[in-house]
Amino acid sequence: MKIICIGRNYVEHIRELDGNDRIPEQPVFFMKPDTALLRNNAPFYVPDFSDDLQYETELVVRIGRVAKAIDERFAPRCYGEVGLGIDFTARDIQRKCIREGLPWEICKAFDCSAAVSPEFVSLEELGGDVQKLRFRMELNGETRQEGDASLMIFGVDRIISYVSQFVTLRIGDLIFTGTPVGVGRVKPGDHITASLEGRTLLDFEIK
Ligand code: MG
Repeated sequence: MKIICIGRNYVEHIRELDGNDRIPEQPVFFMKPDTALLRNNAPFYVPDFSDDLQYETELVVRIGRVAKAIDERFAPRCYGEVGLGIDFTARDIQRKCIREGLPWEICKAFDCSAAVSPEFVSLEELGGDVQKLRFRMELNGETRQEGDASLMIFGVDRIISYVSQFVTLRIGDLIFTGTPVGVGRVKPGDHITASLEGRTLLDFEIK
């Protein structure tokens, strides 16, 4: 399986990251390998290669049907379950990569950089419209991120249609749909929880 991540998909996050309102014309995506998966609310160990390891809480869509160059209107057939994830990012290294025009793998694709919730919930159970979902992340009991999928620049159907023009999506692939505003640093001893429509899906320690 593979993990597709969307960057710069919420205006307020672009502002905090880039200090401007430059909205991408097409979805921006990158990938993480399966070795990046951190499952079952296992603890995340802060790697020693970064001095600014940050969380990005994201709505994660699981692909349920093969999608190759799919039209946007048929994209809803390709998924039916959603969960939450943390796109862990070595921000200091990412800023260097951006500055030097280099690829992002070393700051985004490292081991355990993609925490995903043990549970994925059927979209039907959540009301059926992925763009109406809300999620919340707390660090040490304090709310840091509040996500509202209606504020995505590119919705899930557009993302699937766009990405599948280049990369075939297979059953079990995960799409991290981008982070809302409020990203920040984690350090050993921190505790992350995140809920989707009031259900706590992520609950783990930073070590
Ligand atoms: Mg992200």
